[in-house]
Amino acid sequence: MSLTDIKSLNITELEELLTQRGHQRFRANQIYSWLHQKHVESFEEMTNIPKALISDLSSICYISVANIEKKLVSRYDNTIKYLYSFPDGEYVEAVVMDYHHGYSMCISTQVGCKMGCTFCATGKGGFTRNLTAGEILSQIYTAQKDLTIRISNVVLMGMGEPLDNFDNVVRFIRLASDEKGLNLSTRHITLSTCGLVPKIYELADLKLPVTLALSLHAPTNEIRSKTMPVNKKYPLEEVFKACRYYADNTGRRITYEYAMISGVNDSDECAHLLAQQIKGTLCHVNLIPVNPVEGTGYNPSKDKRLTAFVNVLSKYNVNATVRRTLGSDINASCGQLRGKNLKNKGGV
Ligand code: SAH
Ligand code: SF4
Repeated sequence: MSLTDIKSLNITELEELLTQRGHQRFRANQIYSWLHQKHVESFEEMTNIPKALISDLSSICYISVANIEKKLVSRYDNTIKYLYSFPDGEYVEAVVMDYHHGYSMCISTQVGCKMGCTFCATGKGGFTRNLTAGEILSQIYTAQKDLTIRISNVVLMGMGEPLDNFDNVVRFIRLASDEKGLNLSTRHITLSTCGLVPKIYELADLKLPVTLALSLHAPTNEIRSKTMPVNKKYPLEEVFKACRYYADNTGRRITYEYAMISGVNDSDECAHLLAQQIKGTLCHVNLIPVNPVEGTGYNPSKDKRLTAFVNVLSKYNVNATVRRTLGSDINASCGQLRGKNLKNKGGV
């Protein structure tokens, strides 16, 4: 029998688990508090829990942890990048960014990714496994402990496609926004997706309501299908329709992520085509010069091109900002550090 990740259970599930096994219901609150407020990493640290209960729990559950394998601090800004390892020997990356209004953290939802976007370091490495809700939470808990800070914003923009790990990610969102846990406002959680259309509808219907970021990166099916294979299954028309549904259903503005790749998707014509499709909708465009990934042959657009692109969008009253790249000296773009680590160990 495989063990249950106890950090992934909500309080009701924990109560059920305990009472089914003949333990007292009130212990659930205590255990939950050890896990989600004191962030303990072993049952032995739960000092007010009877030995017999601990021993029974350890026979059916484990506590997920994210261990710091590497920590890089940017010289330019306060960006910190972690390479975390899990006990099964897998790695994921996470980044902590120090904004004026608080700390924001970019975390991973899968080890690798199945989607195969051609510009992405994670996509190049293939897929290994989903993360549990507890493993997604642990990335935040470990960083908060290490830096003695409180994370106030979370973006699911690390390794993996969150909507391809739907149940665990929704579970994570619910646990992270629980007032007896991290107590993050769902509005301060951003979920980024490459556009798994049916799952966008499913998420919208849950009315959680997290901020949705859609990785667009191209204004036509022709260009998008070349860089993002998922577009062949869910073309742009369907993606935009799903995004409109999400915005209407949740009242939340959609963020469109657009990595500017020199000579691929950054012409004025591309900007016109993009604007024509999204003008008048509740949205914002984030333009980010593509991070060069070894072997892709892609280069970031020059500043002049970025400015010209923004100018075209503004003619249509489409809001756009050029995102500053944080931690450029520490491979802050996700997937790059893990790639390097595997290489050093003789992996991909
Ligand atoms: N799988 C999800 C979330 C993880 S990727 C998604 O694709 O949205 C997080 C963001 O980084 C996405 O917008 C993705 O398109 C972008 N990204 C990936 N590789 C990049 C690169 N080399 N340069 C700039 N952005 C990149
Ligand atoms: Fe996966 Fe997102 Fe990378 Fe595409 S950009 S391969 S969806 S992690």
